[in-house]
Amino acid sequence: MEPVITRFPPSPTGSLHIGGARTALFNWLFARNRGGKFILRIEDTDVERSTEQSVKAILDALEWLDLTWDEGPYFQTKRLDVYREYAEKLVNSGHAYWCECSPDELETRRNAAMAEGRKPKYEGTCRPKGLGPGPKRVLRFRGPDSGATVLRDIIKGPIAFDNSELDDLVIVKSDGIATYNFAVVVDDITMGVTHVIRGDDHVNNTPRQILIYRALGAKLPEFGHVPMIHGEDRSPLSKRHGATSVIEYKNMGFLPEALLNCLVRLGWSYGDQEIFSRSELIEKFTLENVGKSPSIFTMEKLLWLNAHYIKEKNPEELVAPLRPLLVLRNYPDKPDAYIAGAVRTLQARSRTLVEMAEAMRFYMVDEIEFDPDAAGKFLTLEMREVFVRLISELSALEVFDEKALETVFRQIAQDLGVKLGKVAQPVRVALTGSTVSPGLFEIIDVLGKKTVLERLRKGLEYIQGQ
Ligand code: GLU
Repeated sequence: MEPVITRFPPSPTGSLHIGGARTALFNWLFARNRGGKFILRIEDTDVERSTEQSVKAILDALEWLDLTWDEGPYFQTKRLDVYREYAEKLVNSGHAYWCECSPDELETRRNAAMAEGRKPKYEGTCRPKGLGPGPKRVLRFRGPDSGATVLRDIIKGPIAFDNSELDDLVIVKSDGIATYNFAVVVDDITMGVTHVIRGDDHVNNTPRQILIYRALGAKLPEFGHVPMIHGEDRSPLSKRHGATSVIEYKNMGFLPEALLNCLVRLGWSYGDQEIFSRSELIEKFTLENVGKSPSIFTMEKLLWLNAHYIKEKNPEELVAPLRPLLVLRNYPDKPDAYIAGAVRTLQARSRTLVEMAEAMRFYMVDEIEFDPDAAGKFLTLEMREVFVRLISELSALEVFDEKALETVFRQIAQDLGVKLGKVAQPVRVALTGSTVSPGLFEIIDVLGKKTVLERLRKGLEYIQGQ
């Protein structure tokens, strides 16, 4: 079997979106599954709309998702000579001709066609003129007048297009720059691309591209058009449905593993399995298992996957992605080991790293603030004795571990004739400021003796100040 070569060719006119990332992922997985090559190509021939920031944003997002490419990034604007060479081939073989029709003339003819109820189409006015290149002239592909072009799509099956419906496409604009449909074919031929996997918004371009392949005498790649992604209301995913750019998800505290896992399931399935490791995906990914109907992106599913991956990670691994979110909240700096300790207590209760960073506040700040309702309810005078005893006995503890702590708490509760549960909540409020937190002994273990004692003393002050 010939080696597989896939490509991802984003146009740098914005950030990497969910749909683009899924296309990149499918191409990447297919290449990895077949031991092939994955090429990155930047389609920047629309010079007005392409920006360097977009290129950087796309590369950053791909790197974050760890979709590594084997070749590139190539830039189409650096390959104009190659397109020129192929354009000449088409002119020489009679498959392309120069056209001098001005945009105004074209517009007038288009309007006339519509007024007469005909489908607007370039009528081939310049076909017989035998023009050469010149200012304001464009190069058009000479399409067949009749017959059909059949796209044998790996995902959608065969689709036939009537050639008479296809225009004589402009392949080189008057500024000398190749258009998308032409550049993409030249690139895919010269880069040896064997499989073109892309969104089905490109289906209508494909017959035009197939005709260019044929005119150039090149072998066709396999085509697979992946159905669109929809939002929960079953309309195409857009800003209305929430964040669409990959980096926004990073900023919202999602892990790349979770987003990838969510993306792969948008169109591809393997029985009813939902969670896949990267190596499992590489092993199992095939185009046969990509569905024909649009898939639906839901935030709920992504949150569920993210919670899963957060829980599964070693706490140490979450420190680096968490750090920027801690800095954003102006928390004082703490060593990695301390943060990892705090993470361990929050993994099972955080769906995103943003939730985790928020929940971590009491571990990070020097002075906590009491939630007034919680303090009013639990830091009451009847707790005075409990706090006095805790402060004195915890100060005396040599070993500050869970077992020793539990013994102290139990003893005090017993001596003062209160239930352990009644002691726990006021202490929790004193240590965290609120009534919701990880297990008390886990918190104490992370905060350490010094901080615990300081906060218990503050709690006692509050109790006595009433
Ligand atoms: N630059 C095109 C896009 O971003 C690529 C389409 C293709 O894969 O051929 O939609």
